Amino acid sequence: MRFVLKSPNWGNPLSPPAAPVQGRLQGPPAKSKFLAVVNQRSIKSLAIAGFLLCAPFATSIEIVLDFTLDEQNHNWFNPSSPEGAARRTSAESAAAFLSAIIENDDWAVLPSLDESFSIRTLAAGVINDLDGNPIIGTPERDIGYEYDIPTTNRSGVAANQYIIYVGAFPFDSSSSAHAWGGWVSNDRRNAAGSAGTEFNTWGGKIYFDISASRTWYSGQNPGADPTDDYGIQDPDKSPSSDISSDNWDWHMTERKRVWRGFHLRSVDPAAVSTTDLYGVTIHELLHALGLTKQNFKSYIGTDGSGDAIGAHLVAEYGGPVPLSGGHFDFDTQSEVWDSAGIISETTLDPSSTRGNRKYLTKLDAAALRDLGYDVATAWASPEIEGLSGVNFKVIRELPNGDVLVAFDVVAGHHYTLQVTTNLTDWVDVSAGSAVSDTRLTIATPPVAGDSVFWRIGVR
Ligand SMILES: [Zn+2]
Repeated sequence: MRFVLKSPNWGNPLSPPAAPVQGRLQGPPAKSKFLAVVNQRSIKSLAIAGFLLCAPFATSIEIVLDFTLDEQNHNWFNPSSPEGAARRTSAESAAAFLSAIIENDDWAVLPSLDESFSIRTLAAGVINDLDGNPIIGTPERDIGYEYDIPTTNRSGVAANQYIIYVGAFPFDSSSSAHAWGGWVSNDRRNAAGSAGTEFNTWGGKIYFDISASRTWYSGQNPGADPTDDYGIQDPDKSPSSDISSDNWDWHMTERKRVWRGFHLRSVDPAAVSTTDLYGVTIHELLHALGLTKQNFKSYIGTDGSGDAIGAHLVAEYGGPVPLSGGHFDFDTQSEVWDSAGIISETTLDPSSTRGNRKYLTKLDAAALRDLGYDVATAWASPEIEGLSGVNFKVIRELPNGDVLVAFDVVAGHHYTLQVTTNLTDWVDVSAGSAVSDTRLTIATPPVAGDSVFWRIGVR
């Protein structure tokens, strides 16, 4: 597809316009950080102002969600339907969050990829592969089927990219899982497995149960930066009852009193009894990034009791961390990442409570660090603090069809507006340097397509 380029309107009633730079640049500027992505469809649906996703930072790793498997099957994440677009926003928000806080930047290009990934516990005996050709499942010991899907839609992996194939299928009726996630093992970028070497492969897969009995929640998507969405929690961390004036679920009916997670009904009545897609996606992405039973043993280390003894985990928890397979043990709590004291069941706990959202906790981050990931300790680095690209919003469509977008800018920084229809090939639309701290409004031609995303790069 060719995009029509048009001179942007950098005008702003509150400040002198910055000098525009027209036309296509030579790729993203060095050290740009891409802070936010807006789906153009949000203009029409008006369901969520801005429809914020986020793109990963250009200078560190990027978790790329590949929806081809879903598109060839149930198309549950179809961005052309309101429900599908909301689901895709949930999943992309989760991936963007992890992309943004994982700061590794030295993963080599994988020039060739000849791989396959397995999926299991599907109800259907036949599904489509990535090319849309039917493949017959291998019956499992119970009533489900498993599949091996060749990665025929890509010939390699770019530097600093981690590819996650995404699927959605009805699981077989004997499966109690909401979703599965895992990494794929063969093509390694680094000499993973050697002592002292970080775990690193090219990617993995996550897939979700879309049986009729499963009700997913794909609302209240936090965008790339969830830290404004944590809400408030009872300052008494071991209260006698769960107060209704906070946002967090203090659960007392099970074998232990635990902060189960963010009570979604405190912000959205529609979330009652649903399974939160954002939180489950974070959980499955942790598996896909390598947090599995095997890797706890092989890379992080376990003691004679089977507890994890990775240095970061022990420092955060105060001792070896009890495990349950590839998870922390049930009811393991930690402080929510960059939350200033909010306590929650960890994301890597084996279960989640309906109606609750679990955000990444410090213990989850520590497990990633013990695999070799460089994980930030707080949201924004000083370098980008205040640049506010996350306030990027689609405002409306103009009578001539142009799309009006706005975002906050800080004097002295350079901003690049880009567009894509596939979340992979980004085309520069306009760029310019800000001369004052202000809100910048740009009119730009619309781009045809059901899936059109815009993003802002900052340097
Ligand atoms: Zn799990």
